Amino acid sequence: MNKKIAVAGAGISGMSSAWMLVNSGYSVTLFSKAFSPNITSNKAAAFWFPYHVRNDKRAVSWSLRSFEVYKEFALDATTGVNMHLLKKVIPYGQNESEPLWLQFMPPGNCRILPVEELEKGFSKIYEATVPLIETQIFLPWLQAQLEAKGTKFVQKEISDLEKLSNDFDAVINCTALGAGKLCSDEAVIPVRGQVALLSPLQGSHPIYLDNDTPFYIVPRKDAVIVGGTYEEHVGIEETEPATIARLVKNATSALPHLKEQQVIGSWAGLRPYRKEVRLEKEPNSNIVHNYGHGGSGFTLSFGCAETVLELVNELIAGN
Ligand SMILES: Cc1cc2nc3c(=O)[nH]c(=O)nc-3n(C[C@H](O)[C@H](O)[C@H](O)COP(=O)(O)OP(=O)(O)OC[C@H]3O[C@@H](n4cnc5c(N)ncnc54)[C@H](O)[C@@H]3O)c2cc1C
Repeated sequence: MNKKIAVAGAGISGMSSAWMLVNSGYSVTLFSKAFSPNITSNKAAAFWFPYHVRNDKRAVSWSLRSFEVYKEFALDATTGVNMHLLKKVIPYGQNESEPLWLQFMPPGNCRILPVEELEKGFSKIYEATVPLIETQIFLPWLQAQLEAKGTKFVQKEISDLEKLSNDFDAVINCTALGAGKLCSDEAVIPVRGQVALLSPLQGSHPIYLDNDTPFYIVPRKDAVIVGGTYEEHVGIEETEPATIARLVKNATSALPHLKEQQVIGSWAGLRPYRKEVRLEKEPNSNIVHNYGHGGSGFTLSFGCAETVLELVNELIAGN
């Protein structure tokens, strides 16, 4: 086939798009201003869960497809992906919002714990097994796999997608917050997330999540990630000591076994939020946009990437 595709952006959206394209025989060059670990995708927790994407109807099938792809990756421990127990909790005294997230779950993958199995402090717990993506392992792994399959990685800030599109059969725009300037799109906004990092736990521990607060505890190999915040329109990628102290206090009072862990750091990341993900062809051009995944970039990634592939196939067939 040997059709040439340019991907702009080396986060999970860009690299998952490149993955689908390369595996279908396209020749891919990936241009990016920055690479892992210096991108938002590294700052994700990152587990599979639909977060602030529920008004985009396409998100259900994208999430389910990504779930399948990560489940395949989890068969190989070197990918940094594993299938992990998630406890979606409702703390005592808190009303449960409508559990719309259930429609995203693969059928049969979720149960409500009987009262006798409830842990102290929670009035309801759902249990599911979901992909946990250790970004610090998975993103370098994915980049190395793409390179081995012939993808060229070029450090370059793109300032004009149309200009780039003259040299390629198609261009995929996965620049996240960068798309605000690149496409004059005011609909994509930063939503800051701050997290604290605790020393890693020994043995196997579940992920805890209360997505309404938001509160999440993610036991990774490098750290226990304690989240978090959801701060719309805050574009400063810095943590606030008082916020980090509050997150640690909340986490250790909800899960007392965490009191044994040391605070080893913190970070902030800027989610590229858009009310609806922009995944479409630009009219009368060979540009496909794939940005605005907010707090669900990993959850949506490979599903969106498959739609990117379909749009590219249509473009190529139309030429
Ligand atoms: C604290 C936190 C926790 C999170 N937890 C989860 C989670 O558990 N599960 C989940 O699914 N999601 C989670 N997310 C969301 C997830 O991190 C994002 O949705 C995802 O990283 C977005 O990926 P992306 O590739 O679109 O963007 P990015 O990772 O931001 O990548 C954008 C890329 O585009 C490049 N770029 C930008 N402008 C240009 C330009 N003009 N030219 C060239 N390159 C350019 C950048 O350098 C970068 O390489 C979390 C986010 C945060 C902040």
